Amino acid sequence: MERNMSLEKVTMPELDPKVRATNFEEVALGYTPAMAQEESNRCLECKNKPCVSGCPVQVNIPEFIHEIKEGNFMAAYQKIVETNGLPAVCGRVCPQESQCEKYCVRGKKGQPVGIGRLERFAADFAMSQGALGAKDIAPKKGKKVAVIGSGPAGLTCASDLAKKGYDVTVFEAFHTAGGVLKYGIPQFRLPKEIVDLEINVLKEMGVEIKLDMVIGKILTIDELKEMGYEAIFIGSGAGLPSFMNIPGENLNDVYSANEFLTRINLMHAYEYPSYDTPIKPYSNVAVIGGGNVAMDAARCAKRLGAGKVYIVYRRSEAEMPARLEEVHHAKEEGIEFRLLEAPVEILGDERGNVTGMKDVRMELGEPDASGRRRPVVIEGSEYVLPVDAVIVAIGQSPNPMIKNSTPALETQPWGGIITNEETGETSIPGVYAGGDAVTGAATVILAMGAGKTAAKSIDAYLSR
Ligand SMILES: Cc1cc2nc3c(=O)[nH]c(=O)nc-3n(C[C@H](O)[C@H](O)[C@H](O)COP(=O)(O)OP(=O)(O)OC[C@H]3O[C@@H](n4cnc5c(N)ncnc54)[C@H](O)[C@@H]3O)c2cc1C
Ligand code: SF4
Repeated sequence: MERNMSLEKVTMPELDPKVRATNFEEVALGYTPAMAQEESNRCLECKNKPCVSGCPVQVNIPEFIHEIKEGNFMAAYQKIVETNGLPAVCGRVCPQESQCEKYCVRGKKGQPVGIGRLERFAADFAMSQGALGAKDIAPKKGKKVAVIGSGPAGLTCASDLAKKGYDVTVFEAFHTAGGVLKYGIPQFRLPKEIVDLEINVLKEMGVEIKLDMVIGKILTIDELKEMGYEAIFIGSGAGLPSFMNIPGENLNDVYSANEFLTRINLMHAYEYPSYDTPIKPYSNVAVIGGGNVAMDAARCAKRLGAGKVYIVYRRSEAEMPARLEEVHHAKEEGIEFRLLEAPVEILGDERGNVTGMKDVRMELGEPDASGRRRPVVIEGSEYVLPVDAVIVAIGQSPNPMIKNSTPALETQPWGGIITNEETGETSIPGVYAGGDAVTGAATVILAMGAGKTAAKSIDAYLSR
């Protein structure tokens, strides 16, 4: 096939915004084989592989794209799973624009190669053939490792250790595995069946997943050691929501994004009464924040029937940490962006229900410690946004439960577990950590990269 020199990616089919804003079906529909091959022909198969340098798990991008070009879709999948155990997830939710695709040479003039879309295609193809899973698994070593948390960090660490022949048990606090992939990211972006299929691959590799096991309450790290686990990985994420500490935050219709999304995704509130968890219908909803969590909460609120949904963000769109695609999709679905604005008070009636949110307008000043321009309040700019619910999506930090039951585990003042960056080792020998539990809220692929690093270190530690 001829090289495709189009400056634009092959378009991926999507559900119509008007239709999808009323349901929870997956928005992006994925490439057909013909589309994937057409897009793969945009790749120049660069010898120095600049795209790979942007991938935290070092997927061999040009090689897997080459296989797609040749029509060897299963071989493409096998190439990806050499280093990435969750390709159907990553192909859907990685912020490719700030990772692999950022370094793609085709992006110098026009759009980069659609690496994420091609990764998703290869993974979905393997799923459609019922042929998931890596081929190479080492013989059993007879050594037990415990992994705490079944988010992308824990699943990746478990997968890499299982491939090396360790007996891995994952301890998960919730009644289902997957971490944020299950309870945070909504169905219309990442169908839960896909997460389950990728988790099944781990189970088939012999990884045991124990649910409803809150480490720090039911068992402690010391008890896990006594049970014969020779190394432990903590991938317990950052599930503790932050609040703004403004008046009115304790009113009835104020949610943390975490609670709102968990009710919807994990407890299926959007399918009430078929499921037991109800969620109150709202007319006008304000979501505070500019990250993926805020976009997800806003798009869920819209799908639950709210007439107006606002994203209220104190900086400008350029500083928004959300994936570009999510911002674009949110706008298409009618979410209104109130940029350079911040809430100062949530207003309520005598029954404690939200009636509005007092906002101030901002302008951008000098850069702050994060390098982003600091928002400064414009005096006298206060006004009331008429809303009946407010969802706070301004960040999360690690839950202190494991730290509180493990005094020797050193943590940052804000709760992040302190580790050796190179190895993932914590202050306790044989205990490793990674993902949001160490960095605070970050990304799926960074959590996976940390899980990989720790797996490598655990292997070295147990092979001494
Ligand atoms: C709504 C939302 C949308 C997001 N969208 C994106 C996106 O589009 N792209 C992207 O790259 N990133 C996104 N992120 C961020 C990304 O999901 C996280 O960075 C990533 O999931 C972190 O992985 P983790 O394995 O460290 O933690 P988590 O995914 O949080 O998993 C931690 C797991 O540990 C369990 N756990 C916690 N404490 C204990 C305990 N004491 N005992 C046992 N188990 C415990 C938790 O129940 C959970 O299952 C999003 C996050 C949210 C909340
Ligand atoms: S940088 Fe872009 S064009 Fe070059 S190998 Fe990677 S994906 Fe292909």
